[in-house]
Amino acid sequence: MAAGCGRIGVPGADQTAGPGGREQPLALNPKQELALGHQSYEEVMSEYGDRVLSADSPETTRVRRIVDRLKEAADIEPLQREIELRVRGYRFDWEANVIRDKQVNAFCLPAGKIFVFTGILSFLRNDDDAVAAVLAHEMAHAQAHHSSERLARERAGGNVFQKLSYSRMQESEADHIGVFIMAFAGYDPDRAVAFWKRMTQAHNGPPEFLSDHPSDEHRVQNLTAWAPKARAAKKAFDEGRITPPRR
Ligand SMILES: [Zn+2]
Ligand SMILES: [Zn+2]
Repeated sequence: MAAGCGRIGVPGADQTAGPGGREQPLALNPKQELALGHQSYEEVMSEYGDRVLSADSPETTRVRRIVDRLKEAADIEPLQREIELRVRGYRFDWEANVIRDKQVNAFCLPAGKIFVFTGILSFLRNDDDAVAAVLAHEMAHAQAHHSSERLARERAGGNVFQKLSYSRMQESEADHIGVFIMAFAGYDPDRAVAFWKRMTQAHNGPPEFLSDHPSDEHRVQNLTAWAPKARAAKKAFDEGRITPPRR
């Protein structure tokens, strides 16, 4: 870990080594991030109670099968290096649960606990690639320590425009990381493009997902450019030409 020159973070948290080599203030060190994740997990589990589907439900089985593939891909070292994830010293306790609720949404807590509402599964029907696109995006937020960064930036203050701009930056970062992870897991990255096209075009569509995923006109444009790069990187990796092309 770099010594860090953080003004806003806590000791032990790496202040400079963000995804893509960018400067990223963090409020939590790896241990605190894991603890926050576990605490939030307990809160979500007790909040939704018996609306959390059992592990052997078809929905949970399906989501966990997809997450298994994604987390395996997220562990591929050359991929981590290529997309410049900072995961050294961090532990991810990936686990997915499905909540019976009509919200068209999904989220991933710090350190890897994922929650998916049945509403988004209905919205995506039987399209596993689209479900993978959503899950990979949510997992990317965790892998990029976005909650810890948000806490650090909230402590530092700043105006509403700065907040909007870093939250858009995080969204874009999660899109970028997510599209590579899904491609490396063998899913079709074009489905991520199709998903976001559908989300941004849906007029009476799902407000929940978009409300915590601020969008802009560049999102679909960026994903359209990244999808073939992710696919090419996966092909290169499969053929033993290890180093995938840069962004
Ligand atoms: Zn989200
Ligand atoms: Zn997001």
